[in-house]
Amino acid sequence: FIDTKPIWQDPELYSKNCRERNYNSQSDIPTKIAQLHEEWLQEVRALRGYSERRNAIQKQLSRAHTHGLEEEKTKLSQEARKLERDLAPLEERETWLREEKERLAAELPNLTSHETPRASQPKGIGSINEPPAHELSDSRNHVHIGKVLNLLDFQRAATTSGRGWYFLKNEAALLEQALVQYALKIAMEHGFTIVTPPSIAYSHIASACGFRPRDPSTQIYNIAHVKEDQDRDSPILSLSGTAEIPLAGMEANQILNAADLPLKVVGPSRCYRAEAGAYGQESKGLYRVHEFTKVEMFAWTVPGAEMDAFNSILSVQKTILQTLGLHCRILEMPSSDLGHSAYRKVDIEAYFPSRCQRNDGWGEVTSASICTDYQSRRLNTRVENPMGSTKKTSFPYTVNGTAVAVPRVLAAILENGWDEKDECVRIPTVLWPWMNGMQTIDKR
Ligand code: AMP
Repeated sequence: FIDTKPIWQDPELYSKNCRERNYNSQSDIPTKIAQLHEEWLQEVRALRGYSERRNAIQKQLSRAHTHGLEEEKTKLSQEARKLERDLAPLEERETWLREEKERLAAELPNLTSHETPRASQPKGIGSINEPPAHELSDSRNHVHIGKVLNLLDFQRAATTSGRGWYFLKNEAALLEQALVQYALKIAMEHGFTIVTPPSIAYSHIASACGFRPRDPSTQIYNIAHVKEDQDRDSPILSLSGTAEIPLAGMEANQILNAADLPLKVVGPSRCYRAEAGAYGQESKGLYRVHEFTKVEMFAWTVPGAEMDAFNSILSVQKTILQTLGLHCRILEMPSSDLGHSAYRKVDIEAYFPSRCQRNDGWGEVTSASICTDYQSRRLNTRVENPMGSTKKTSFPYTVNGTAVAVPRVLAAILENGWDEKDECVRIPTVLWPWMNGMQTIDKR
């Protein structure tokens, strides 16, 4: 369902877009598509010539039949058979050229918004809460705090599952549930309806969303139950790195009612990431782990109305982080950081005292993206057009964003709420309703 027309009409625009997004190996695809299109046009012209000749023979044949011209009938039938034989490879080539154009077009990343900086660095577009007043100290580190207050255990998790896994214990486990409940509450107040998605999805659904399960360098865990006689291209199952995949896939091959848009859902799920190549400081605590709980927002809109959904997602993110008392900065992400599917992306980074040696303390806690029709075309999600439109359906735009990704927010709460003198953590007021009356986490 990918429209190749804008690509063969302006291949340079698409090549430049690939280069700006750091997809250099794809930058020659648009020119290839334009060449294939030229060849396809020639093939179509040739086929048209054959099909005119075929029609003419059919007419002559029926005349010869009416007038009982046996000799002419035999001659024409022979010519018709030869024509069919000559036509078959041409038709095959025409189909191949058309499909190849579409296959290559699907390899291209989305186009890029005018708002997006063409650079490798993000642009600051806002902040949340003032910087914290507390002194910096080595003890203001969630791994240390987790140990003192018996909240986190990485050592036992290394025994059960390996490096990059963790046990959340006591108030930390409760805080996870509180964060999920609070994020769901805020998202629902913003008009999102709750859906619990599956954690496993087919590889073709993940690919359609812009993730590459078959690429060995991706962060995706594939589930190995490949049968011996299984076709290499038949779908495999993958553990979802984000609920964005099953939520987007929920409307695959569906026609949405325009009156139901924007359709806004919020889904809590476990996320699985191989995080291949992650090492050093970041792999020590909760910052970069293999499995975590995340509440994800997803929306389908009519093209042109995507900014409302995007602003609604940003508003949920800002409300949650602001009321949790975390000091954050809001970033317009650069073209090199948009991945395959995003047209525009805004991230929010929170301040983590333990990350002061690294990135001045900043660490990403949420992300929000507009994907235009990249995902809906690949998933064949359509929306009915109003009566009288030339086309019956069109492709809706999709928008997604994090409401809360638990481990990093939990780490930020522990580090920023740490009272070094009393050895306790202050729990943000908005989470109290889910903390069994607790306002602080104290040493046992
Ligand atoms: P993404 O879907 O990659 O945009 O990630 C959404 C959010 O999930 C990020 O903003 C982080 O807060 C969080 N996150 C991503 N990867 C990890 C990880 N490996 N461990 C913990 N949190 C993560």
